[in-house]
Amino acid sequence: MTARLIDGNALSTALRTDLATRTATLKAQGIVPALAVILVGDDPASAVYVRNKIAACEKTGIRSLHFNFAADVAPAEVFAKIAALNADATVHGILVQLPLPKHIDADAVLDAITVEKDVDGFHAQNIGALTQGKPRFIPCTPYGVMKMLASIDAPLKGAEAVIVGRSNIVGKPMALLLLAQGCTVTICHSQTRDLAFHTRRADILIAAIGRPKMITGEMIKPDAIVIDVGINRLPDGKLCGDVDFVSVSEVASAITPVPGGVGPMTITMLLTNTLEAAERCL
Ligand code: NDP
Repeated sequence: MTARLIDGNALSTALRTDLATRTATLKAQGIVPALAVILVGDDPASAVYVRNKIAACEKTGIRSLHFNFAADVAPAEVFAKIAALNADATVHGILVQLPLPKHIDADAVLDAITVEKDVDGFHAQNIGALTQGKPRFIPCTPYGVMKMLASIDAPLKGAEAVIVGRSNIVGKPMALLLLAQGCTVTICHSQTRDLAFHTRRADILIAAIGRPKMITGEMIKPDAIVIDVGINRLPDGKLCGDVDFVSVSEVASAITPVPGGVGPMTITMLLTNTLEAAERCL
């Protein structure tokens, strides 16, 4: 058996066409949706992510502002920039690219963004609202995964969902979203005993680990839906996910590729959140 491919590029293209129309409508009403992106330091992967986000904004008609700080910037400068952007009514979304250098308190930076402009959905208040089932902004990667599951009409009610990874930006919000849809959720992490015992029970398996090809075919329940969030660069420069695509696609019923899976959907949901923030200003 070969699994059905859940194509993040194709789904993104369809969603972004709709977003471009909504952006044009908003502009006709006098509001130009705008996203401010703050990058600290010179991490090459972060620079690529920021470039991709800015390019996606431009294609959709969303204005983007880009602020780049040196790796040794004084934290006060970053907080001052966020305060200025919070106060700027022409800016609807603010994003700080993670990770930040160690001398900057990332939680404090994320919490400095006003909740109305927190389009990444990482502010403690927004996470709290998500926990209560009343999200203001849904974190972009788990949001994109939910759209991918919806695109194949994945049966979620009562399904066993297993998430490998418990980060604040992927694993935990992913668990909350699946729980809200009626899944029975298990979250695994580096201290989980017998990972394969859990993954083999999963009707829906989400891998958000950061370890190339760690999830293999023998860890998968036949006909499971497998979503690969991981983005890893191999020594030869190629990208791969946390899932061994070749062996897993022989067992699963549906699978996302890397690249071309969750990555483009994350950016699409960032555009969606930015547009929603702007629409709330009408
Ligand atoms: P983190 O490093 O913050 O979290 C990784 C998680 O994996 C941790 O909870 C860790 O456990 C767990 N883990 C590590 N090793 C093992 C193991 N051997 N067995 C079980 N669990 C393990 O990563 P992120 O959540 O930020 O990102 C995960 C991956 O997703 C990365 O490859 C990242 O690049 C990618 N990513 C992709 C995005 C996209 O748009 N496609 C967006 C964001 C991230 P513990 O907590 O115990 O340390």
